[in-house]
Amino acid sequence: MRYQSTRDSNLKLTSAEAIAQGLSMDGGLFVPESFPRLTEDMIISLVSKPYKDRAAQVLGLFLDDFSAEELEKYAGEAYSQSGYDTAAIAPLYRLDGETDFLELWHGPTSAFKDMALQIMPRLLTASLRKTNETREVCILVATSGDTGKAALEGFCDVPGTRIMVFYPQDGVSDVQKLQMTSQSGSNANVVAVNGNFDDAQTGVKAIFSDEVLRAELNEKGFFLSSANSINWGRLVPQIAYYVSAYCDLMANGTIKYGDEINFCVPTGNFGNILAGYYAKKMGLPIKKLICASNRNDVLTDFINTGVYDKNRPFFTTSSPSMDILVSSNLERLLFELAGKDGAFVSNCMAELTQNGQYEVPAHVLKEITSTFAGGRCSEADTDRTIAEVFEKHHYLMDTHTAVAYKVLGDCRAETGDKTPCVVVSTASPFKFCDSVIKALGQPVASNGVELIGALETLTGCPAPEPLGALRDKTPRFLDTVPVDGMKQAVREFLK
Ligand SMILES: *Cc1c(COP(=O)(O)O)cnc(C)c1O
Repeated sequence: MRYQSTRDSNLKLTSAEAIAQGLSMDGGLFVPESFPRLTEDMIISLVSKPYKDRAAQVLGLFLDDFSAEELEKYAGEAYSQSGYDTAAIAPLYRLDGETDFLELWHGPTSAFKDMALQIMPRLLTASLRKTNETREVCILVATSGDTGKAALEGFCDVPGTRIMVFYPQDGVSDVQKLQMTSQSGSNANVVAVNGNFDDAQTGVKAIFSDEVLRAELNEKGFFLSSANSINWGRLVPQIAYYVSAYCDLMANGTIKYGDEINFCVPTGNFGNILAGYYAKKMGLPIKKLICASNRNDVLTDFINTGVYDKNRPFFTTSSPSMDILVSSNLERLLFELAGKDGAFVSNCMAELTQNGQYEVPAHVLKEITSTFAGGRCSEADTDRTIAEVFEKHHYLMDTHTAVAYKVLGDCRAETGDKTPCVVVSTASPFKFCDSVIKALGQPVASNGVELIGALETLTGCPAPEPLGALRDKTPRFLDTVPVDGMKQAVREFLK
């Protein structure tokens, strides 16, 4: 199978080339030129298989320049019980007869990004070998919290790689900060930036496009790459958990093969829900994908009107991983919905850059609404949802998951759709202790990682082991740099 750019259908790359390169030279994203079929036999055969086998099967359909043995090895390492606190890896939690939560936060960093970032470094280093790359890769990450830690864990001591994470000094939770600054591994570096997330991200982008620095690093045998969800190697592992959830619903008798289900996904960069769309295109019986937004509701408006307009206020919310105005993976959806038309995508993206908005034609909007529904959730409703579900079901959700569950309820009320729905649960509530304690109507009396214990006491729910262990950790990385000092920090790290 070959890969092409969303902005140029004539490019043809192997999967290893697409993963090694990350972003296409024309600014587009790599997409498979066609979608392999998930047959009935395949799905039925996966029902009795563990998560790692389900993942290897899905990956194998897309990465045909990797052998089955390679993919089984990587999936076995990435989704083993040493890194997850449950043998199921991505278990379903049944809330009631029509709703299940797909819990994607049982991995080492307690957020769904582990599902991709535990395996992506293995796919990337293999891709670099397959493309005869001899330089050492340094992954640069600007993070608002979850990605940085998941990337640090994924790349920890992976031979032939370095990883450097920049986070906004006052822009991440105390738990997230200590998760990153106490990271182990001899190939890692973590630096606070004196600025907000946008400053850190702008700084990283400037480093990527600095040709002098690139030449300098090349001399020393290094090159820079990124671990964000524009890379195909990060997106493709996410398809597996949609398939896995379907298999689990078959295994427990909720559905039989062919029955349609819905998924509701708390969305920021559109990477998670896009993987669900790809699963549907492969033939997984999905009826609707419900795209849930917090107050930053640019995607809700887009799905409902066909106008993408980022000219709007930006809000800092209690679900920070969804505080995004430009969802980069939407470009991949546009490409498919507009009939793989690279020129159309290029135009939309140019308009977005110039005017901050674009509008899709009616036939594309019709395609969107045939598969997607969109809804938003306010800050007050996020809190209320956490409290209500905890009182009624004794089930504790994080803020991102609560946004999705609220939007699902609204959607059901509005459409009367009775299709069973899987809510994709993206983080442990213990990653966002202060917001969750507040949502439960309690005062936030302590700070930092002490809140983990406070939330345990309040709810009787145990924190995931790696978060609980933070209480005994001391920070190892203490550097703070100004935004214009980031480049120098990279130079020093890659001496
Ligand atoms: C990253 C993240 C999201 C958003 O996922 P996208 O793929 O960017 O849409 C939602 N919830 C949590 C907890 C996250 O870390």
